[in-house]
Amino acid sequence: MAEVLVYVDHVDGAVRKPTLELLTLARRIGEPVAVALGNGAADTAAALAEHGAVKVLTHDASEYAEYLVVPKVDALQAAYKAVSPAAVLVPSSAEGKEIAARLALRIGSGIITDAVDLEAGDEGPVATQSVFAAAFTTKSRVIKGTPVITVKPNSAAVEAAPAAGAVEALSVTFSEKATGTKITGRTPRESTGRPELTEAAIVVSGGRGVNGAENFAIIEALADSLGAAVGASRAAVDAGWYPHTNQVGQTGKSVSPQLYIASGISGAIQHRAGMQTSKTIVAINKDPEAPIFDLVDYGVVGDLFDVVPQLTEEVKARKG
Ligand code: FAD
Repeated sequence: MAEVLVYVDHVDGAVRKPTLELLTLARRIGEPVAVALGNGAADTAAALAEHGAVKVLTHDASEYAEYLVVPKVDALQAAYKAVSPAAVLVPSSAEGKEIAARLALRIGSGIITDAVDLEAGDEGPVATQSVFAAAFTTKSRVIKGTPVITVKPNSAAVEAAPAAGAVEALSVTFSEKATGTKITGRTPRESTGRPELTEAAIVVSGGRGVNGAENFAIIEALADSLGAAVGASRAAVDAGWYPHTNQVGQTGKSVSPQLYIASGISGAIQHRAGMQTSKTIVAINKDPEAPIFDLVDYGVVGDLFDVVPQLTEEVKARKG
């Protein structure tokens, strides 16, 4: 069976959920071989084996932490040469997309970014993408070289599928370019205790209807009752009510959670572009004609200042 390289996104050995989802998709195409780099790389092996990795190629060097992405591209290319895979899968983070694009260029392959599904095809893997502000869903296939595909978080379920997960040390020689851009400082983001927006299973977003930074507390309360991330429309961000890192949409982040709750958001095309692939969409809006109601699974016509706190209380009550 053909091998499929899976680039591992991890923090000091703790594998992030989008990588486990990639393993589910990789198993549809072939046998997943994971590539884990940097501090704690070897510690990823147990989780990767539990989710179907037949082999885990690891390499640690200070270059991964000290420089930008090129050392990681060098390592992924070394893994590519060692394995000759049928495809290379990378999580669709900002860093993942840069790594994937650089690798595709180096190996002369086509690339598909931001896939939301992946299946085996007679002539290679077929990726599903949501394009043109989510107005269309396309299926495409790389026809040049080895397919390099980045996949958005929440595109597949995490499934246990125990496999050997044999750990092998990857041999990497860094290119001259690897040390061209040094990281001179890191500023950790203040932790909210909420899940990362693009990876969250549930997102609760607020828009202009929230009518003030202080009122976002009710959006946060609902989010916290559900263990959700908080999103915001551009109108709310431009008004200075919520940080740009939480903006959902064309010029913000693209999310694809199991549940997206839009409160006081009209549903402009640029907002839809970032959330339309959510599995279940709920909107709370006092205008029954708001365009957001055209795409929802459940709509509540009402004042969010009445509806959202009631919803929060109900969720808390049901959780006991
Ligand atoms: P509005 O459109 O003003 O809607 C507010 C809604 O709240 C209304 O439907 C109203 O009925 C409802 N409401 C008001 N009070 C209440 C209440 N008390 N209870 C319940 N409902 C209430 N937008 C994004 O979101 N993300 C992007 O990334 C983005 N990128 C853009 C890029 C470009 C190039 C451009 C031109 C625009 C972009 N926009 C983006 C802006 C987008 O066009 C809209 O202007 C924006 O999404 C509107 O935000 P909103 O829905 O919060 O505000």
